[in-house]
Amino acid sequence: MSVSIKSVRKHYRTLSDARIREIVEGESSTLTNDGLMVLKEEITKRNLPLLKTINNKLQEKEDITSLIEERCRIIRDQPCPICGSEEYKLNAVELSKVRLGLKSTEFNLGCYDCLVKKNSETTDGYSILNLFSLWGLVSGNESIKHNTRQIEQLKVDQPTPELWKYAEQLERAVYREAMQQININPISDNDSKELNRPT
Ligand SMILES: [Zn+2]
Repeated sequence: MSVSIKSVRKHYRTLSDARIREIVEGESSTLTNDGLMVLKEEITKRNLPLLKTINNKLQEKEDITSLIEERCRIIRDQPCPICGSEEYKLNAVELSKVRLGLKSTEFNLGCYDCLVKKNSETTDGYSILNLFSLWGLVSGNESIKHNTRQIEQLKVDQPTPELWKYAEQLERAVYREAMQQININPISDNDSKELNRPT
């Protein structure tokens, strides 16, 4: 077991029941699966009437993870939006560029060859003006390092964290819309009643 899970567990142990409830009901979407599991342990240990809610949250996390996986798979099977080739699976990188002293990042989706080409264009295109200031030089070098790491990720035939993030945004938007349409209350009524029950 990792040290971080241990420290999370220790942290939850120090929280009040009310705070645990707050996290489960309001902040649990920001937790990782491990975080939710530890929270569930604490809820079980204290016998709080939140088991149903936390199980729903875990299920939701599992559902959305498999939706994101599926979304990544579909995106990766599309023809390359840059060259149109269907030969390679697509992936995504976030390339950093410095233009006239301004640093920005750009999301790029494409096949391996196109992304490598995009990266060299970005780097070759560094304005000579960047070289006139130390800041320009330093941030230019940082950008090159960042971009090299991004391209390096493509060597593994897996969705990059950038593609995952992109797919996650798409899925969360779809998920939210679906929930609104069927008007699902994220907090189950039964749990809320149980919590208000006099003890
Ligand atoms: Zn391409």
